[in-house]
Amino acid sequence: MSDLSVWICPVCGELLTESENSLKCSKNHCFDKARSGYVNLLPVSRKHARLPGDNPEMVRARRDFLSKNYYQHLQNALCDAVRNYLPPDGVLLDAGCGEGYYTKKIRDSLPESCSVCGVDISKTAVDFSARQDKHTRYAVGSVFHLPVDDLSCDMLVSVFAPYAGTEFVRVLKPHAFLVMAIPSARHLWELKQAVYDNPYENQVKDYHLENFRFLEKISCEQKIFLDNSKDIQNLFQMTPYAYRTGASERERLQALQSLGVQTAFEILIYQKEA
Ligand SMILES: [Zn+2]
Repeated sequence: MSDLSVWICPVCGELLTESENSLKCSKNHCFDKARSGYVNLLPVSRKHARLPGDNPEMVRARRDFLSKNYYQHLQNALCDAVRNYLPPDGVLLDAGCGEGYYTKKIRDSLPESCSVCGVDISKTAVDFSARQDKHTRYAVGSVFHLPVDDLSCDMLVSVFAPYAGTEFVRVLKPHAFLVMAIPSARHLWELKQAVYDNPYENQVKDYHLENFRFLEKISCEQKIFLDNSKDIQNLFQMTPYAYRTGASERERLQALQSLGVQTAFEILIYQKEA
């Protein structure tokens, strides 16, 4: 792992210096590393719930599903996109890294000289990331208040994570890259059809982003086959509509024993304007 650290103190904003077990700023605010290696940089004042972010049950569902590599095509496409644009000694931040499924694979596909950091607001997810990936720096933090220094990153990766334009612009160097993965219109269509009376397509917004130049869209589609109820339910848990599903729809979901379903993602590449 390169020595380069991008973390800043969530109390005063000074750069943090890393030692073996903790990180400290020049004003002596000190943050201990957890046993798994991550550091919690989420200030208590920004912690609106006891366990902010995805709860352990959601993290578990996503982890179990992803561990079966149903989304390996997206993982590979992301690694290719990152390698195409990141300089050989680049600093990459995964903002909203979840349990590190994409982060770790990206880290493993890059030269040693690159530095990779991951931030997520879910402590459960970050702890899992840090346990299975010792070559990436992980911190608990919000993408809307990234514990990351100004103009410190050559690339920011955002996979199904909230878009925080002002923060992304702040932490990226001039002409640095933003790589976003979003679901396209027909993503998981057969799953929606099986569960809902009136399924609707995902809305894909126009690609314009303030302060960024749009460079490229990479489509990544593959039909996947789920042969058991557990995987189908885990996949459903990962979707944003899992929250607003009624009892009869849940029954339909639970009755599904196998499902062929289209996955459809778009990887969007942007460059920060000078
Ligand atoms: Zn400080």
